[in-house]
Amino acid sequence: MRGDAEISAAVREAIADRSALRIVGRGTWLDAGAPVAARTQLVLSDDHGIVAYVPDDLTITVRAGTTLRELDETLGAHDQWIALDPEGGTDVTIGATVATCSYGPAAAFFGTPRDQVLGMTVVLGTGDVIRAGGRVVKNVAGFDLTRLMIGAWGTLGVITEVTLRVRSRSMRMDSVSHMRRLLPQSHGYRRPEIVNDRLSAALMQRFDPHHVLNPGIMEAKS
Ligand SMILES: Cc1cc2nc3c(=O)[nH]c(=O)nc-3n(C[C@H](O)[C@H](O)[C@H](O)COP(=O)(O)OP(=O)(O)OC[C@H]3O[C@@H](n4cnc5c(N)ncnc54)[C@H](O)[C@@H]3O)c2cc1C
Repeated sequence: MRGDAEISAAVREAIADRSALRIVGRGTWLDAGAPVAARTQLVLSDDHGIVAYVPDDLTITVRAGTTLRELDETLGAHDQWIALDPEGGTDVTIGATVATCSYGPAAAFFGTPRDQVLGMTVVLGTGDVIRAGGRVVKNVAGFDLTRLMIGAWGTLGVITEVTLRVRSRSMRMDSVSHMRRLLPQSHGYRRPEIVNDRLSAALMQRFDPHHVLNPGIMEAKS
């Protein structure tokens, strides 16, 4: 792994030399956007690998040079995936995918990289290393630097590490419900009825253990 210190040093060196850097992942989409005037490339494809992955946590942290293929292979072993399928295939880096906010058909259901990225590490154009967002699904409130970086095309910082939301591949087709509404012929209103006694008892034990909220409004399962 290349590491943030080395990337930060490269940026500081560019500042000192008054030269520009062309950030490169796997280089498959460098013709997108207007031409960049930079003699030196900062290539991130060799800075790849899984930093942290606990399948039950449904998050994964990887270095920016990790390809979507590597991610697929690691997550696939646990029947999981990242809901990102940008044009251009899987031999592309996650850093570039996030930096360009690239997405494919899966976005119609799961959203764009803005919905999949929970946090990231970024080396700014000053050489400072910052951490934005978190490594967990629940995130702290505040100024959302993560989303600022997603789709900024590397103009605000070099994305060096990304934490992503992981999804299960096997979708559950069944659902559970606490109540349903009956439409009795003789009444104009919908009558709430408990569907699953055990589930409802468990829910109420958690949410209203003292039975102080609208007790008895729902009829028991008929
Ligand atoms: C022919 C082709 C067409 C495509 N068309 C579309 C499309 O229409 N819509 C779509 O959503 N996606 C499209 N893509 C998506 C593309 O697959 C993704 O953007 C992909 O992630 C590029 O990966 P890469 O590693 O090769 O990126 P690169 O080509 O190396 O870099 C792409 C851009 O991201 C910047 N960048 C790379 N890494 C970082 C980083 N770590 N931090 C900050 N900036 C970085 C680069 O400076 C560059 O501007 C296309 C890809 C190809 C090959």
